[in-house]
Amino acid sequence: MEDGGWEAEGVGSKEAGLVHITVMRRKMVLGNWKMNLTSSESKAVIQEFLSRWEFNENVRVGFAPSYLSVETVKTALGENSIWTGGQDCLWAEKGAFTGCVSVPMLADAGAEFCLVGHSERRGRFGKLETPESTIAYFAESDETANLKIKALTCHGISAILCVGETLAEREDGHTDSTIAAQIQGALATIDQESAALVTIAYEPVWAIGTGKVCDAKEANRVCGVIRKVVESLLGEESADAMRILYGGSVKASNAQELFSQDSIDGGLVGGASLDPIEFADIVATAGAL
Ligand code: PEP
Repeated sequence: MEDGGWEAEGVGSKEAGLVHITVMRRKMVLGNWKMNLTSSESKAVIQEFLSRWEFNENVRVGFAPSYLSVETVKTALGENSIWTGGQDCLWAEKGAFTGCVSVPMLADAGAEFCLVGHSERRGRFGKLETPESTIAYFAESDETANLKIKALTCHGISAILCVGETLAEREDGHTDSTIAAQIQGALATIDQESAALVTIAYEPVWAIGTGKVCDAKEANRVCGVIRKVVESLLGEESADAMRILYGGSVKASNAQELFSQDSIDGGLVGGASLDPIEFADIVATAGAL
């Protein structure tokens, strides 16, 4: 992968003969365009974004456009060291899977990352619990998220695992247990080498696309819980190195407060990433921290 090793680095210090390694996690801000923007609109948004963006090594930036625009976005980004990614994938390499896109196809298009387990893709396929909502339209489960992470990391593509509780789960006091179960399922039997290519995005379902942002201190608390769950699965070193993002109604006006929390390493941004001026502001905020 281009500039591998750039994402987290260990800083060593020696005290009384003991070597302490402190991992520096660089910020990450990814835009999830969902089912928005045609290829020509995507190109125009990237051009506007680039006219306002300045490279800052403190923040990794990426865009997840529709599959049809991945190559257009990649070309428009040129040599700017900004990632392009998919919003989903299937774990099978190829075959009779109508409508699906495989990891080798994403790799061939130049994708460096792919979202996995987004709440808009979790649910029970074939059972539309709430027809007017996107929740429960698709078949994503912790098991399929696990298969996708394995397929992506095997091809050297970063997996952005989305986890989060519904409003009902939060109100019932099940936030932490819901998230722990999602991570345990999605990261089951993933080894440390593959885990180095995994980022987790904490995305409370009730905060996505609603304008209701999670309180920054609470988002920070949950991200801390996530790191503890990762530690219990993969050990302290992997947990320290793993980036944990917050997603759910991030905007230029709340990015500073969210991203300055010590357990939050950046953001997964939906709606606000469609506006290149606002997204450039969000990215600049992350880079300045
Ligand atoms: C998302 O789609 O991952 C997301 C966080 O959306 P929004 O920023 O619009 O809430």
